[in-house]
Amino acid sequence: MGNFSRWFEKLTLSQRMSIGYALGLFITLSIFAFFLYERFHQSIHNSYDRHLKFEVRQIRPHVQVEDDGSISIDTTSLHQNDALTSTDSVGTHVRIIRADSSIIYKSPNLAGTASMSLRIPDGMQRSGGTFSRNWRNLPARTLVNPLLQDNHVVGWIETTGFEWALHRELVVLRRYLVLIIVLSVVFSLGGGIILSKKALQPISNIVHSAKSIRVDELDQRLPVNKQAKDELYDLATTLNAMLKRIQRGYERERQFSSDAAHELKTPLSSMRSDAEITLRREREPEKYRETLQRQLDEIKRMSRMVELLLKISRLESDRSFNLQAVEVQELVEPLLGDLKPIADEKSLSLSWNIEGGKELYIDPLHLEEIVHNLVNNAIKYTPEGGSIEVAGRCIGETIILEVTDDGIGFDQAEQQQLFDRFYRSDEADIQREEGHGLGLSLTKAIVEHYNGTIEAHSPGKGKGSTFRVELPCHTHQQTLV
Ligand code: ADP
Repeated sequence: MGNFSRWFEKLTLSQRMSIGYALGLFITLSIFAFFLYERFHQSIHNSYDRHLKFEVRQIRPHVQVEDDGSISIDTTSLHQNDALTSTDSVGTHVRIIRADSSIIYKSPNLAGTASMSLRIPDGMQRSGGTFSRNWRNLPARTLVNPLLQDNHVVGWIETTGFEWALHRELVVLRRYLVLIIVLSVVFSLGGGIILSKKALQPISNIVHSAKSIRVDELDQRLPVNKQAKDELYDLATTLNAMLKRIQRGYERERQFSSDAAHELKTPLSSMRSDAEITLRREREPEKYRETLQRQLDEIKRMSRMVELLLKISRLESDRSFNLQAVEVQELVEPLLGDLKPIADEKSLSLSWNIEGGKELYIDPLHLEEIVHNLVNNAIKYTPEGGSIEVAGRCIGETIILEVTDDGIGFDQAEQQQLFDRFYRSDEADIQREEGHGLGLSLTKAIVEHYNGTIEAHSPGKGKGSTFRVELPCHTHQQTLV
């Protein structure tokens, strides 16, 4: 069994399918043939038994059973019965047997042939019946008919005939059945292999194409047969959709690494030339201090950028966050309180209205990051004297956070790019402020991690903006995917 399953596992799918199909067909046909054969066999016996019974009915009038239980044959009328006087060695053989097993009469065709055993099966001695036996090396059938006197068995009329002609039919039938089964199995095996190979050909094509797609050729797609919208069509389109997602992810990562390298390269080169120029000759200690201070500021800026990059990449790869039920008002209000002095410094009014009693199942640091980034941007990109409003409310199972300012806003074209990594508007008002263009993409990544959405709206440049975050109120049982 172990060897068979090892051998079976080595076969191709089409071979395995065909063997399974052929095996099923073999079992079905064998069961069908078995019952057909048995039924035919039985009906042959039944029709021969009817023939023997007819013979007995013809013989019975010639046999007399006396009151004392003795049996006699009416010899005067014997010639009227064919079976009793038969000399034909393949005809019916008749014996009249007493209860003590002595034979009173036997038909002439029994003389001089191999003796037939005097066996009356136990169950048939009283009720009679038929049974098969082998006599003269041929299949024979015997009918036993009891002779009764006062309800006592005094003897039997035993008629025996050969069934070999009928059995020959059975042998022929058996051969035909075996031939039909063998041919059906062979054809189904061969046809099955050809058909399943043809049916599975598209899979081979898909495998072949998939093998040839290299990591730098992710724009290639697997062949799809649009005519046949079957399971293989689903498989190919699903794999193609997966390839598209992988391609997008791969391109995003590539773009991300190249942008990150680029963003770090510029400040590093300026730091390097600054240091080289300073070291070119002896300078006042004050000059060295100035250079070091500039370098320190630049390092702080780069550290913040690396920190943001790490946060984004952690969010995309790491899933072990400190998830817990967070009361939104309890967390957001103190945070806004901390940001208020920064807004005050710029003479901005920062106000908020956060509904109480609403919970989110979230890592508190993530919620802080969202609020911090949006409000910080509003502070950065709203001119002095402006106002910022933060609203938090719940609609159904969704918590909505909105940060609205009356600052510099943005136009339609910009709106599409705000959440791209490293995107910063070219506007002087924006460039003046410190930033890396990573805050919104980190915010978006966090929001999408919790299956939420983020949108930015602005009536136009100089007309303020609103950033709206929607987060579903997950319960503890729900898994974040
Ligand atoms: P950063 O603020 O560091 O530049 P962000 O990813 O937070 O990076 O923002 C990306 C860009 O989106 C900003 O440079 C700015 O052009 C635009 N932006 C963000 N917030 C606002 C806002 N409140 N009003 C107008 N423009 C904004």
